[in-house]
Amino acid sequence: MRTDKNYSFIFHQDALKQALPTIKEVQGLKEDASIDLKTPTNDSATKLRHYYGCLLGLAVGDALGTTLEFKQPGTFKPIKDIVGGGPFKLLPGQWTDDTSMALCLAESLIESKGFNPKDQLEKYLKWYEEGYLSSTGKCFDIGNTTISALLEFKETQQPYCSSPNSTPSNGSLMRLAPIPMLYHNAPVEAIEKAKQSSLTTHGAKESIDACRYLAGLIVGAIDGVSKDELLSDHYAPAKDIWEKDPLIDTVDKIASGSFKHKEPPYIRGTGLAVESLEAALWAFYKASSFAEGALLAVNLGDDADTTGAIYGQLAGAFYGVEGIPTEWLNKLCKKDLIESLALEIYKTTFSENNNLN
Ligand code: MG
Ligand code: MG
Repeated sequence: MRTDKNYSFIFHQDALKQALPTIKEVQGLKEDASIDLKTPTNDSATKLRHYYGCLLGLAVGDALGTTLEFKQPGTFKPIKDIVGGGPFKLLPGQWTDDTSMALCLAESLIESKGFNPKDQLEKYLKWYEEGYLSSTGKCFDIGNTTISALLEFKETQQPYCSSPNSTPSNGSLMRLAPIPMLYHNAPVEAIEKAKQSSLTTHGAKESIDACRYLAGLIVGAIDGVSKDELLSDHYAPAKDIWEKDPLIDTVDKIASGSFKHKEPPYIRGTGLAVESLEAALWAFYKASSFAEGALLAVNLGDDADTTGAIYGQLAGAFYGVEGIPTEWLNKLCKKDLIESLALEIYKTTFSENNNLN
């Protein structure tokens, strides 16, 4: 059986990998005066740094926020660094269910060359039962909505058994990044697959539409769309998406910029999909760097790791990997594995014969 310690398929030699820069080279690009990082470009190295940023940003936000997970706003000293601890007593840089599930999803998309909901659920179950793709070797935290869907899948083998009446929580939003990364070149498909990826565990309309909206933002961020445009009224990466299949009211309000006119305590990083999405966008809107926004997001407390993970996947896609503090990246548990998965998604997306499921 392959474990994440023996990630051999990632390292198979192939011509495409030979042609791609490593993460260190990508990070080094900011020193290169010939590349203007503020200008959107289709240059492959520039695009790749957004892919790295998206998946690593999710994990960094999770690792940062776990320290404050479940803490009520205003009852703790704000953090400024990845320090570990928190309810699971993690080491600095270890991450939680958000990242484990994102890595399971990433691996499934790569191995299946597209969307295979049964395979995704099998990997989530393997994480739950065996600690697969975890930071500690164990699954030490899992949301109620997720666990009930996984147990039902185990019994029925039905991949979409989460009810529309399930709790509208943020468990599908926190792990979303690999979907808009893989389907980046087909924005309408990215948004449809975001819906399906929520349906495996979180069938509530608010959870689904939060995923659809965030998927659109991440597709745009990877493309180098400006922050003003991303956060403009109902940004969509393709024409008429929200007109054809409207967002539920609560997510629609966020798409119209609700977070621009609110501050805590009206911004709350709770376990609800809608509130955590709004909190992550509030942090992204207010900040001018990855680190500043990440600290705003996690210092809201409550479901801090998940607000951090939602913020981190969008902000990492937007600022690119070189926007994430190097000290934070260096602390990150299994950074090489996360980096490899981001690279494999990129390669799958941009391979010439990509017929994604
Ligand atoms: Mg978590
Ligand atoms: Mg959480």
